[in-house]
Amino acid sequence: MKDILVAGGAGFVGSHLCEILLRQGHRVTCIDNFYTGRYENISHLYAFPYFKFIRHDVLQPLSIVGIDEIYNLACPASPLHYQKDSIYTLKTSVIGTLNLLELARKNHSRFLQASTSEVYGDPQVHPQTEIYWGNVNPNGVRSCYDEGKRCAESLCMDYYRQHGLPVKIIRIFNTYGPNMSFDDGRVVSNFIIQALRRQDITLYGDGSQTRSFQYIDDLIDGMLRMMCTVDSFTGPVNLGNPEECTIKDLAVQVIKLTQSDARIVCRPLPMDDPCRRKPDIGLACRMLEWKPMVSLNEGLLNTIHYFKNILNTKEHEEVD
Ligand code: NAD
Ligand code: UDP
Repeated sequence: MKDILVAGGAGFVGSHLCEILLRQGHRVTCIDNFYTGRYENISHLYAFPYFKFIRHDVLQPLSIVGIDEIYNLACPASPLHYQKDSIYTLKTSVIGTLNLLELARKNHSRFLQASTSEVYGDPQVHPQTEIYWGNVNPNGVRSCYDEGKRCAESLCMDYYRQHGLPVKIIRIFNTYGPNMSFDDGRVVSNFIIQALRRQDITLYGDGSQTRSFQYIDDLIDGMLRMMCTVDSFTGPVNLGNPEECTIKDLAVQVIKLTQSDARIVCRPLPMDDPCRRKPDIGLACRMLEWKPMVSLNEGLLNTIHYFKNILNTKEHEEVD
């Protein structure tokens, strides 16, 4: 049994991670300030005797002892949320990561940093390998997130080089699944909710931009494997599904799977929206013996099922 701290554990990815770690028999401390996370994501975890929640903002230093592993997920992740208060986002990525790295140094704990495909910006190399340095606008509307995450990677590597801290950096590509928040504006949740409500499907731009969508279970599997690697392996490692699709094709697929008669309407493309994104997962295959197992079709069906239940509950609450 290990003592594991999950920062940002009440969010979409963190809530799945906490649950699997608890199921494996570990003692899990989840810290979160509910900036984008929700109590409902973690309420069921209180059934596990070794689950503990601490409401805490990672901008403040922490003093906890006896921690074996730290997963740092604390940061708003959807463009809508991370651009709402961009200074806060940047501070969370940089100061938050620094505070957690200090905690790891004092505890001699392993440290996994949730970095992002956004460090590649609007990539000019396709698919993206970890050795590509990226094409990021350093002062655009997305830079609070992109540059914040790049700085956090830099801090992790400095703690590795200066203090010998076993750090692990993963670069997560667009991930979706149950527990995504209803209103976070990401494309998968937006399209599914719009289709289920028979509202217009909001396609930004002409929908020819691409993303590669990974189901949450595959990501969690990759994260757990990464944490177990030898101390000298820091990454960064891409974790994503290499199946690339246009956003227009995603809209069509969601409409089909929900059997909706919603129409697709075009809206302006947000500034600095990356044109193409697809991970090269060769390194993860070799080092983690990992590859995604869940197809887009199967993952979307699970996520549609989740949002149907959420919508039903919301409708009942409104009637009551
Ligand atoms: P999320 O917004 O659902 O979860 C982030 C969690 O961090 C939330 O619970 C939020 O309340 C918490 N948080 C934010 N600021 C905090 C602070 N200052 N102190 C304490 N807690 C704070 O997002 P997610 O999709 O679960 O993403 C988790 C991590 O994975 C993020 O670091 C994100 O950058 C990274 N990531 C996610 C994706 C994706 O597609 N989901 C892709 C790339 C990277
Ligand atoms: N997008 C869209 N309609 C929406 C939400 C997003 O067409 O309602 C597009 C967005 O412009 C981007 C892609 O879908 O090209 C993925 O957007 P998301 O916010 O999910 O993630 P990110 O841009 O960070 O990859």
